Amino acid sequence: MSVTPTNLPSAEEPHSDPRGVAQEIQWEDYRDHLATADKDGNRRWVYAKQPGGKWHTRRAWVAALLIVIMFAGPWVRINGNPLLLINILERRFSILGQIFWPQDTVIFAVAMLVFFAGIMIFTTAFGRLWCGWTCPQTVMMEMVFRKIEYLIEGDFQEQRTLNAAPWSVGKIAAKFAKHGIFFAVSFAIGNTLLAYLIGSEQLLAIQFDDPRNHLVGLTFMILFTLLFYAIFARFREQACTFICPYGRFQSALLDENTMVVAYDHKRGEQRAPLARGQTHEQRAASGHGDCVNCRACVVVCPTGIDIRNGVQMECVNCTACIDACDHIMDKIARPRGLIRFASLNNIATGAKQRFTPRMKLYSTILAGLIFLFLFLVFTRTDVETSLLRAPGSLFLTTAEGKLENLYTMKIVNKTRHDIPIELRLENIPGAVKVMGAADLTAPAAKLVQTSVLVELDPQLVKGPNTPLKIGIYSKGKRLETVNTSFVGPRK
Ligand code: SF4
Ligand code: SF4
Repeated sequence: MSVTPTNLPSAEEPHSDPRGVAQEIQWEDYRDHLATADKDGNRRWVYAKQPGGKWHTRRAWVAALLIVIMFAGPWVRINGNPLLLINILERRFSILGQIFWPQDTVIFAVAMLVFFAGIMIFTTAFGRLWCGWTCPQTVMMEMVFRKIEYLIEGDFQEQRTLNAAPWSVGKIAAKFAKHGIFFAVSFAIGNTLLAYLIGSEQLLAIQFDDPRNHLVGLTFMILFTLLFYAIFARFREQACTFICPYGRFQSALLDENTMVVAYDHKRGEQRAPLARGQTHEQRAASGHGDCVNCRACVVVCPTGIDIRNGVQMECVNCTACIDACDHIMDKIARPRGLIRFASLNNIATGAKQRFTPRMKLYSTILAGLIFLFLFLVFTRTDVETSLLRAPGSLFLTTAEGKLENLYTMKIVNKTRHDIPIELRLENIPGAVKVMGAADLTAPAAKLVQTSVLVELDPQLVKGPNTPLKIGIYSKGKRLETVNTSFVGPRK
């Protein structure tokens, strides 16, 4: 079949500096330097072509959903608790409406292990799909900031031309509009992060209360805004390449069975431009593969790499190059999928993805951790009580000849409602009294501290240490049991 290579991107498309200084990249020595830095370490600005196609559309839908969840997250309540709250300063945490206290450190630690084990197994099976599709940095960069940039400054070539052009009213207006919107979006992201850290009520207080009462909060609001503005306006893909540790340790997790965005070198090589009127059979006869060396996959890449060089640290699996290459394959009437989601084994041998022993091991660990997490969450009590003998106190003998011990009790109420508390001795007859109050109530989501007096008959006291079990009851239902000891005279 004869095809004409029209509208294919130039094979000599250079990346260039934002100030307009064109810099040729030596694509052959890609392993010696980053695609976004020259040999002197100077930044090469990536002008990525606007992506489009089947994968991009899917990604846009996923991104839209995630953006809605991200911005709505701090305002959503489940049983009156935030969907997600990570208040490190006050050590208050809420995940999916479940309040976690410092006393729940074990559950929190297991939740973190589940998260990391989940990422590990996901990466082993599906590479860096997380990075390209769900990471907030990539989602916001590619689906919000870059879209704004395309809207105001045009596609990659117009952006490059604009940056190279001398300052004019039009250029100043475009830059002013772009950076003004970037700043506003960064402000929204910074506020959202703050809401996740301190809670939406506190954020509203900072926004609408007298600023003099919230100097620390306002400082962080400004710092977060500037940070996000710097990341999205200037730092961009460098955050993934230099700062994010995930990209670094992926090399320890990926293997030849991992699904990645991969170039089918067996089908594509030897790459060569398509000559006018050349048929596929003629290309095959001359030893040429399906890659017409158009570099559409390169110019669309937001991290500035050439996927044909193989799996690289910078690749975030965003699939923009798949769409770009599929588009070219359609044009030259060859099957799609020269670049596709595939394992290296699949490309080398045609083998389907298999559930490797490593994946089985990670899955078993993950299943065990999830089981442990669920067990801890579902067996978690509404209150957490600690009972310690009052410092420096020994036993007292009452006028009636009974023995008394004084304790300090702390009760954390992990729920959003007040809990009336009643104490009972479980393993020995006697009396337990809350000092200074007829009724004890643990206020909602707060810690209450009080003194407790336990009174026992001396006949029941077995020397200096008598084991005690005290039941914590509410409305006749036992919430938990705490163990302590009763100090008595030596016998
Ligand atoms: S892999 Fe596809 S998009 Fe990339 S240069 Fe070859 S033909 Fe062009
Ligand atoms: S190589 Fe392809 S999948 Fe990887 S970052 Fe570049 S465009 Fe995205």
